[in-house]
Amino acid sequence: MEQVLFRHNKPGRPVTFAEYCAEGGFAALHKALKELSPDDVQRAVIDSGLRGRGGAGFPTGKKWSFVPRDLPGPRYLICNCDEMEPGTYKDRALLEANPYSLVEGMVLAGYAIGVSHAFIFIRRGYELPAANLRHAIAEAKEAGLLGRNILGSGFSMEIDIHLSAGRYICGEETALMNALEGVRANPRAKPPFPAVKGLWGRPTVVNNVETLANVPYIVANGATRFKGLATTPEGSGMKLFCPSGHVRNTVCMELPLGMTLGEIIDGPCGGMLPGKKFKACIPGGASTPYFTADHFNVPMDFDAVAKAGSRLGTGGIVVFDEQTCMVGATLNLTQFFARESCGWCTPCREGLPYVREILTRIEAGGGEPEDIEILREHVHYLNYTFCALAPGAMGPVEGLLQLFEDEIREHITKRRCPFR
Ligand code: SF4
Repeated sequence: MEQVLFRHNKPGRPVTFAEYCAEGGFAALHKALKELSPDDVQRAVIDSGLRGRGGAGFPTGKKWSFVPRDLPGPRYLICNCDEMEPGTYKDRALLEANPYSLVEGMVLAGYAIGVSHAFIFIRRGYELPAANLRHAIAEAKEAGLLGRNILGSGFSMEIDIHLSAGRYICGEETALMNALEGVRANPRAKPPFPAVKGLWGRPTVVNNVETLANVPYIVANGATRFKGLATTPEGSGMKLFCPSGHVRNTVCMELPLGMTLGEIIDGPCGGMLPGKKFKACIPGGASTPYFTADHFNVPMDFDAVAKAGSRLGTGGIVVFDEQTCMVGATLNLTQFFARESCGWCTPCREGLPYVREILTRIEAGGGEPEDIEILREHVHYLNYTFCALAPGAMGPVEGLLQLFEDEIREHITKRRCPFR
């Protein structure tokens, strides 16, 4: 199986600059700056069908195309590496193994969009990826692949690293821009969208690490080859999946978009831990509704997962065995989101702690039958909030109500957790 992002990986250590270059690294940048116009690069990314790998799945080339072409003055590119979704560790795995694909991808994106200053907004706690990136940026500058007049092309670009203050909401693109500007990291109203009015009021593109790291392959090998890596016509390219929970193999893996959930769990994940039976999983990070064994045939690409009632999200697959209390698992996730609410809008600030309170009560055996309806109402109303944090937090609650209502009722009638 061809690898895109992990093709340079070395066992137990990051790839070196010399190895990356010897294996074809920065060839895409040479090609772009010598043979292609910015529009050509943008067109290749549009044609490749690359969709944002940070969770939303928005077409990357289309996002770039929203930046006004002829507006004078600066514009910015931000790489979002504020990876704080529980169960997701793909960007860390990528940067611990190879920071160069991201640096190259950012310069290519900057060339396509017309950016001279880019930022990497990185999660506090990601010291090793940040150190790798600092090193890679210095090496790229030394080699004339970053900085002033890159490869003598006349195109110049700088990349700065910014360490997050350490809140989940900083990963929301407009809150991230506020954090970069040094003000409180609340999300901003949209429109205007960042591509028109973003960082310091200037056109800004925010892309995820994995998204940008795919760009060198697309430019070097062409959009058609990238598209063909997926196993379904709807998919495009490869995807990093990071399994965790009750499966044997819990390392980050690069797989074609379109492999079914069952193929991933029984294949690369190595199946369930000895003596364990599959009960459910979160297919794409903590804010996505559950899947059960009935979903094993769902191709893991953006549209198929959405059609089946969940989201591909970040590709963080958290697997639960049959002994897992799904009320307890959902409570655990809700505790996280309630704590991470930025407090800006009332439904989220007040609603998430209330949902947490109800789930706590049910899990402890003190739930009432009407709690189920109250939870349902909150799933509905928490969709109407200022940003996507609260609707995302309701993903697992929605899945709990749809797939495990019997389990909630069992807690309520037995007045205790049946799994204890
Ligand atoms: Fe803040 Fe939550 Fe409102 Fe988003 S939904 S703006 S995180 S309070």
